[in-house]
Amino acid sequence: MHEKDARRLHEETLVIDAHNDSIVALIRRGNLRLDGAQRPDDAEREGAVAYLRQYIRPLGERIQLDIGKMRQGGLNAAFFAVDCTRPWGNHLLYLMDALGYFFREVEEFGADILIAHSASDIERAHAENKLAAILAVENSDALEKSPHVLPLLHRLGVRAMTLTHSTRSWAGDGCEVEGGSGLTGFGRRLVEQLNELGIVVDVSHLNEPGFWDVVKMTDAPFMATHSCCRALCEHPRNLRDEQLKALAEKGGVVGITFVPFFISSTEATLAGLLDHIEHAVSVAGIDHVGLGSDFDGGGDLLTDATQLPEITAGLAARNYTEADIRKILGGNQLRLLRQIIG
Ligand SMILES: [Zn+2]
Repeated sequence: MHEKDARRLHEETLVIDAHNDSIVALIRRGNLRLDGAQRPDDAEREGAVAYLRQYIRPLGERIQLDIGKMRQGGLNAAFFAVDCTRPWGNHLLYLMDALGYFFREVEEFGADILIAHSASDIERAHAENKLAAILAVENSDALEKSPHVLPLLHRLGVRAMTLTHSTRSWAGDGCEVEGGSGLTGFGRRLVEQLNELGIVVDVSHLNEPGFWDVVKMTDAPFMATHSCCRALCEHPRNLRDEQLKALAEKGGVVGITFVPFFISSTEATLAGLLDHIEHAVSVAGIDHVGLGSDFDGGGDLLTDATQLPEITAGLAARNYTEADIRKILGGNQLRLLRQIIG
C-alpha cells in the first residue's frame, strides 16, 4: 500500500484507543480545557485530584491527547480512564472529582465530543463528525468495597473497569505484588456484577492467578486495554502467549500499549511497537488485537495522538490488508463493545 493510501485509510477508519489517562493529566496541568487551552481563573482551583496528586509544574505542560490532537491524529473514540490507585482512602471522591471535571468539559465542547454509552453512540458520533469518549475506571478500589456504587457509575456512563492496578487492591493482586494470589471474593462478585451490568472487564495490571480466575469464571469477552506481549519483552505488565490465546478464545481484545518499557527493555521504537502488534496477531488472531496507547499515563513512544497515522503506515508497509488494518485500528474493539455494552 502506498503511503498516501495508508493516510486515506487511517482517515476513513473509525479509530478507537482503549486507554488514556488524560482526564487526570488535564486537571494536574492546571485544569486544562479539552481543547488544550488554559483558563487562568481555574488553574488553582483544587478538587480531590489536584489536592491529592498536586499540580504538575510548570502548569500547562505538554498534554498527549485533547480534542485537537484527536482530530489531527484521526482518533475517533477513546477510553478515558481515571486511575484511582493513589488517592489512598479517597478513591471514590477522586473518581467523582475527575468525572465531574470531564462532564463539564464535554458539556462545554458538546459540538466536538460526546460520552458514548453504546457502540452505536460511537458510530453515531463518527457519522456526525464528533469524537466519542468511553468512560473507564482504572482500579476497582474506586468502589470503596460497596456493591451499590457500580450501578450508579454505570448510570453515569462508565463502561469499562480495570480490576486492579499493579499493586494490591480489594479485588485482587496486581502484577507487581510479590507472591500475590487470585481474585478475592469481592473481586469475583465484581466480575459477575460487571458482566451483568454490561461493563467491560479489563485485566491489564492484574497478576496471572487473577487473570486465570477471570478466564475460569466468565464466558463474556474481556479486554486487556493496555498491555504488550511478554514473549517480546519480559515485563510483568505484559501478557504471556497462553494468556493471549485464552483472551482470544473468549472473544476478547488486547490493546497494545505505547509504554516504552513494556515494548522493550533496551530501546523502544515504532518498529518494536509494530512487532508487538504482529506477535499478538500471530498468537491471538487478527480479530483480537487493537490499540491501547496509555497517552498521558506513560504511553510516550509516540509524542502524542497526532502521530497515530504512523502506526497505520507501519502496518501497511508490513503488508497488512485494509480489512485487517481496520480491525486493529478499531473494528475489533467496536465489535467487543457492541457485545458487552450494547
Ligand atoms: Zn494503567
